[in-house]
Amino acid sequence: MNRAVVFDIDNTLTKAREALELPMARRLGALGRPFALAAGSDRELLMSQFFEPLHAHGFRGQFDAFLCNGALRYRCRCGDQLELSLVDEFSMKNHLGESGFHTLLGLLERLLGDERFALPSSVSIAGDRIVDRRGALNLAPSGRERGALSAAGRKSRDEFVAFDAQTGYRARLLPVLRQELDRALPGNDLQLSLGGQTSFDLVVRGRDKSFAVRTLLDEGMQHVTYVGDALFPGGNDAAVLDYVSASWPAGKGPVDVIQVRDVDHTAELLDAWSRGGTGR
Ligand SMILES: [Mg+2]
Repeated sequence: MNRAVVFDIDNTLTKAREALELPMARRLGALGRPFALAAGSDRELLMSQFFEPLHAHGFRGQFDAFLCNGALRYRCRCGDQLELSLVDEFSMKNHLGESGFHTLLGLLERLLGDERFALPSSVSIAGDRIVDRRGALNLAPSGRERGALSAAGRKSRDEFVAFDAQTGYRARLLPVLRQELDRALPGNDLQLSLGGQTSFDLVVRGRDKSFAVRTLLDEGMQHVTYVGDALFPGGNDAAVLDYVSASWPAGKGPVDVIQVRDVDHTAELLDAWSRGGTGR
């Protein structure tokens, strides 16, 4: 049987926003079956977090990476050189049209100034608060730096993550955001979820984390296992579960979904696979 694995990156193959470590690169090299990646982040961010360290740690091989929640598909070849070539590209702006996209950006800007979204003074802001990833938008109330994090970026991130854990800020605002989106763009096909640990992801339905899984099945894989850390409702891997339950409501479909706690849990899982177990 043709079997493949799709991995989320952040907090699944790497610690949150940290570079891929050697043991995980080795595990990917020893996986013995094709794999692909499904990440919310863009290429720029993942070069230093994932692709360059993977190559530098000696991984050799080829795989596809579905970035920006499936909006961009790259083929990654790790040979003497690291090569990433764009295979497919989707644009939210084209999809919504100029005026719909403009309405959406205006709404997000307004909401960041709305008192319901206000952050306490204990949370500093670093980087861009609205990130246009072409196929997807990322709304980060405390900001988001491009590429590797600076000290200020790390501090802001830690402050926000602690604040969010204590107060449920994002979980509380998720339905508010949904309501405002539907009011501004009635009948839209936008999907909203919590992005990583600090933001909200906005994607077009179907162009989400499930896109990697659907594509591999369309292209001839008979079974796909998805491994991610945020499969809970509102999490940025949840679209995979939604897709599976909508496609195979009685279960027993060709997709297995595995929720991992963190990168150590993924390591245990892959070690169990290499010993021939299921390691769930
Ligand atoms: Mg993740």
